[in-house]
Amino acid sequence: MQNQKSVNKNAPDHYVVMGNPIAHSKSPLIHTEFARQTHQHLQYDRSLVAIGHLPEALTRFHEAGGKGANITVPFKVDALHYVDSCSPRALQAGAVNTIKFDTEQGCFGDNTDGVGLLRDLRINLQWPLDGRKILLLGAGGAARGILAALLEQQPALLMIGNRTLATAQALVKEFSALGNIQASEYAELQGTFDLIINATSASLAGVILPISPALIKPDTYCYDLAYGKGLTAFLQWAQQHGCERYADGLGMLVEQAAESFYVWRGVRPETQSVLQMLRASL
Ligand code: NDP
Repeated sequence: MQNQKSVNKNAPDHYVVMGNPIAHSKSPLIHTEFARQTHQHLQYDRSLVAIGHLPEALTRFHEAGGKGANITVPFKVDALHYVDSCSPRALQAGAVNTIKFDTEQGCFGDNTDGVGLLRDLRINLQWPLDGRKILLLGAGGAARGILAALLEQQPALLMIGNRTLATAQALVKEFSALGNIQASEYAELQGTFDLIINATSASLAGVILPISPALIKPDTYCYDLAYGKGLTAFLQWAQQHGCERYADGLGMLVEQAAESFYVWRGVRPETQSVLQMLRASL
């Protein structure tokens, strides 16, 4: 393989997104567009990896000359165990979504989900977070990946609501040094919130969460990490109960990808045109 690499100097640098399932992934489209825009010579593919086989898949890809990988559901925690070193934000999240091979620290892992969400909320949408009451619905991998970034914005309260209370309580224990963070079951949630973020996978199944509409006030912002054609189930619910400012997670998807691209290539792509292209393609 070394020989093949050295004779073919004009071959594109190779990147991949690994997950299971993976056919739906928009990452190849996004990174190909970033590369075109920034004149980077690279190829980006998707790879379906069998559950439990991420290490072999990554090693094979690296040995074949691969430069980096995105890791998606359900392998982000496995990826943390694979890398030789990782960024503080990946360590804090307990998950890796971006791998860069052959760095000075060996195989390097990062997590760009938190910064991706923040860029979408703060820069694209211009929603305020500091001093606000935030309700985060869900306590899975995505919630874990964005918690530190949200707490860095110093909200007055970050309440985690989850179907399984123990999972939310475990996150509270882990992240309590970073800010005012609490946990609740859905039925016990009370008061109103300035921002409600849905980080459950319920929207993907069209399931409406059993939370009170009274949590929403007219100026509450609602954000769903999920996205699709039209409004997600959560955003439909929010709109029906008077929410006027809402957004889905397509912007986060593009922003976390842009951060991965920066980690790999040292170049920041422009995201708005890519977001518009993706939106039109849904
Ligand atoms: P996980 O499987 O790790 O976590 C799922 C979460 O959803 C848990 O909190 C689970 O609760 C909850 N949940 C699932 N089904 C139901 C239900 N029927 N009723 C109530 N709660 C439910 O998934 P992830 O955290 O990885 O992903 C969550 C979402 O975030 C997905 O929609 C994913 O597509 C999206 N995402 C979007 C990104 C983006 O860039 N826009 C990036 C990453 C994720 P419990 O603990 O009780 O099981």
